[in-house]
Amino acid sequence: MKDAPQKVDLKNLSLSELEDFISSFGKERYRSIQILRWLYQKGIHSIDEMTNLSKKFRQDLNEISFISTLHPLHVQQAKDGTKKILFQLEDGNRIESVLIPDKKRLTLCLSTQVGCALGCRFCLTGKMGWKRDLTVSEILNQILAARETLADQTSITNVVLMGMGEPLANYNNTIKAIELMTNPDALKFSSRRITLSTVGLLPELEQLAKEKISFRLAVSLNASDEETRSYLMPINCRYPLKKVLEACRNFPLRPRTRITFEYVLVEGVNDSDQDAKRLLRILRGIPSKVNLIPLNEAPGIPFKRPSEEKIKRFQEILMEGGLTAIKRASKGTEISAACGQLQGRWPC
Ligand code: SAH
Ligand code: SF4
Repeated sequence: MKDAPQKVDLKNLSLSELEDFISSFGKERYRSIQILRWLYQKGIHSIDEMTNLSKKFRQDLNEISFISTLHPLHVQQAKDGTKKILFQLEDGNRIESVLIPDKKRLTLCLSTQVGCALGCRFCLTGKMGWKRDLTVSEILNQILAARETLADQTSITNVVLMGMGEPLANYNNTIKAIELMTNPDALKFSSRRITLSTVGLLPELEQLAKEKISFRLAVSLNASDEETRSYLMPINCRYPLKKVLEACRNFPLRPRTRITFEYVLVEGVNDSDQDAKRLLRILRGIPSKVNLIPLNEAPGIPFKRPSEEKIKRFQEILMEGGLTAIKRASKGTEISAACGQLQGRWPC
């Protein structure tokens, strides 16, 4: 006996895929816009709730498709208001998202993979290794489920793809998900409010430069010379700093936008005056801003965070050299929700 064909998860379809899917029922294309609004704006959980579609059409849809959801397994809140949400996926794997309130903003930090293959030495997600890529719906459902944990008046203002995983290593699903995040009939985020953080996988970065969609780009540099970067981030042996910077220099930025370079400060490894001066030098000519992230320490990570004095000095050297350098506040450290602390495990 043949297996029954698998039902289509509607949230895995881009707008054009949804249009093709709908036309296979002989339905008008505008129906796909109605479906997007139900899925992402109203956040419904069942096809039967799409009341502006005929009953027959809903029955037909139900036969071959469904609406997936993610349910938080645990939500933990830190004193500073940061919320870490643990999700269990259909196959039992676990991922985390983090909601970070800051003045008028509420930023959701999303995961794009279960684990990560790139093994940066300072990152707990890297220590887990790569388990699998997230589907488009698993990426988007983190936003929808996080939204449901909020009181009525608040809403997510910004999305950063900086949770578990390397977004460009899950290229197609990440791009499709960003398309739906910015689609005015779906999640309707302004592209200025979406930031993708990457180590700079070169083929994907070049491909990205050709895409029509836009968002803010953040590149994790973490060192200003090849040797230190290769030590901290093994991927640098394959895609060296020099080439990553060249790709950044050629990246088609919209007017008045800059690339954010992330720099995790690690005591005694990349935090010297010389490192700061070299960073200034290598970023010359690239419209850039630097986010300094003092290392979040964790058991199993063999490094320390530099002293406040050292961090301040590093920042001053960059600023005196004319670079915008912001020290990123570590939010939610006591619940292990800060950068590099996500590993899909929950303390009992
Ligand atoms: N894989 C992507 C996105 C996820 S990591 C990337 O590496 O850019 C998001 C950010 O967290 C990166 O800038 C990374 O350098 C930083 N990070 C990882 N581990 C950290 C740690 N222990 N302390 C502080 N920042 C860390
Ligand atoms: Fe992967 Fe980013 Fe962590 Fe490196 S820092 S291991 S690329 S998640």
